[in-house]
Amino acid sequence: MSNIHFHPSDDTLARYADGDLDPAFSIMMSAHLEYCSGCRQRINEIETSNTQILESIPAEPLTSDLTAMLSQILTQPVEPLTLELEVEPDLRAGVLKLDNKEFLLPRALQRHNEEIGTWSRLPGKIQRAPVSTGGKSKMNFIYMEPDSSLPEHTHQGQEITLVLSGKFVDENASYGPGDFIVQTDEHQHSPRTQVGQDCLCLTLLDAPLHFTSGMATLLNPFSQLFFR
Ligand SMILES: [Zn+2]
Repeated sequence: MSNIHFHPSDDTLARYADGDLDPAFSIMMSAHLEYCSGCRQRINEIETSNTQILESIPAEPLTSDLTAMLSQILTQPVEPLTLELEVEPDLRAGVLKLDNKEFLLPRALQRHNEEIGTWSRLPGKIQRAPVSTGGKSKMNFIYMEPDSSLPEHTHQGQEITLVLSGKFVDENASYGPGDFIVQTDEHQHSPRTQVGQDCLCLTLLDAPLHFTSGMATLLNPFSQLFFR
């Protein structure tokens, strides 16, 4: 029984299966799939149905070259997804060190170990390290110490958060490892951790955060920090 409550949409799963997502989004998805057997199953189903659609294309109108190529493709064994492992073994793949703590990373991130920048401290007992993945969206590790909070904010674009370790809460729910949370400019929230409970997340932003409440609006220039 999975403890993951937040998953990518069907549309996102389909685009992932089609190789249609940009590199940074794909990394977020691959990492989620390492945690989530349900979504792995869905991807397999989508790929199977894509293969069936290919097979149903009539061979007749194609030139012989194309027919030969297509039949060659179709007779090749379908490459199995390299995502057969469950959470525990996957997470041995890479270790992220922060202060005196070590976090085991999904394999999808281990490949990008070299691209993890230095950690910096932000107000509110938050730390952040950028991951340079190319493209225009910005990926960051966000580490929230126990009993820390991020001021209430909304999103000018889309924010995707994948919980890697620990737990955080906001007005709507509580989020644990593997949870894949998509927020847009319609959502407003103030994430925080509880006493004695830290949280490591991976986030992907396509525009800076926009802080919405009281003094925190003074932080709006600082929100650019999340977007580097
Ligand atoms: Zn899932």
